Amino acid sequence: MRTVYLDHNATTPLDPEVYKVMEPFIVENFYNPSSVYSRSRKVREKVEEARAKVASLLNASPEEIIFTSGGTEANNQAIIGGAKANAGKGRHIITSAAEHHAVLDTCLRMEKEGFEVTVLPVDEYGRVLPETLEKAIRTETVLVSIMYANNEVGTINDIKTLAEIAHKNGSLFHTDAVQAAGKIKVDVKDLGVDMLSVSAHKLYGPKGIGCLYVKKGTKIESLLTGGGQENKMRAGTENVPAIIGFGRAAELTIERGTELENHIKDLEKILREGIKERIPDIIFTGHPEERIPGCVSVCFKYIEGESMLLLLDQRGIMASSGSACSSKSLKASHVLLAMGISHEIAHGSLRLSLGKDNRMEDVEYLLEVLPPIVEKLRLISPLYQGGR
Ligand SMILES: *Cc1c(COP(=O)(O)O)cnc(C)c1O
Repeated sequence: MRTVYLDHNATTPLDPEVYKVMEPFIVENFYNPSSVYSRSRKVREKVEEARAKVASLLNASPEEIIFTSGGTEANNQAIIGGAKANAGKGRHIITSAAEHHAVLDTCLRMEKEGFEVTVLPVDEYGRVLPETLEKAIRTETVLVSIMYANNEVGTINDIKTLAEIAHKNGSLFHTDAVQAAGKIKVDVKDLGVDMLSVSAHKLYGPKGIGCLYVKKGTKIESLLTGGGQENKMRAGTENVPAIIGFGRAAELTIERGTELENHIKDLEKILREGIKERIPDIIFTGHPEERIPGCVSVCFKYIEGESMLLLLDQRGIMASSGSACSSKSLKASHVLLAMGISHEIAHGSLRLSLGKDNRMEDVEYLLEVLPPIVEKLRLISPLYQGGR
């Protein structure tokens, strides 16, 4: 059967070019980069080369990159480590209602550690408006964590302005840039952030590796204790093959420039127009312009997103409804609800996220398969009157 992968916001396929550079470090060059012999030192060199490549993707210095086990750990490290190390300023944290659970739940967990957490509302597009941050921020605000691009609806926040507001108040600013890196330009200097999270498997690298950018001079507490790896910021023997793969994935992202962005934008345009033309009673969610390329989030009235996913899967199409993490529970997406969309409509959400290997035929196939699925589900829906 034909398969079409349209779930790149959940994870991306490993680029064969990335795998090629990882392979020799899985079996042959297994050495611990911290050992003293020359073969280990060679491995250390490769790890540092990878760090420089990742730094270069973000316009950071290599010393400002801490490798982590992924985006989740980077977010935990930034929030827990940043808030604790600077708690002298105060014990108030600000985040937003549309964050990934790796940020939202970590902030809320800090309440048990005696921190107060303000969860900012978002607008109908999923954006944090600068004035809401201005109103919520206080002298005791130690940390503000607001995502760069949303994983469910693709909306991009004005990080530069939000970070300025935080800094005027003397608060640290962290952004989860997991969905931005690899899709749009991520420049830590231009954004003016103190901390920024990236995950390799969202940019055609391996799973289980990511990084936290920590601006030089920023105080943070490390989560793990043990060895002195990662500048004493992340104890534990490095995941060498993954780090090397992450470096290559970062390098390929730089090499591709805006070529990939343009390819995906072309496909996205046809996908959006095709859905709009063929299917009535739908609502596209997310910001119409301020969004990452390739993310088409749409709610189909009168039906359940989950049933749509199962029928799409029967035809070889892989997509998502809400976030991957919440798709096991039949809860409506917290992001869509935060945007003011009703439970009923939010239940009919579908997220199609395009990637570098998608071709026009994939979009055409989806446009052929989806409309009859929606029609079929609506006909058996007690909520739908249109067909009778
Ligand atoms: C995928 C994702 C994460 C989690 O990254 P992992 O590397 O899978 O832990 C965090 N934030 C956002 C916005 C994501 O899309």
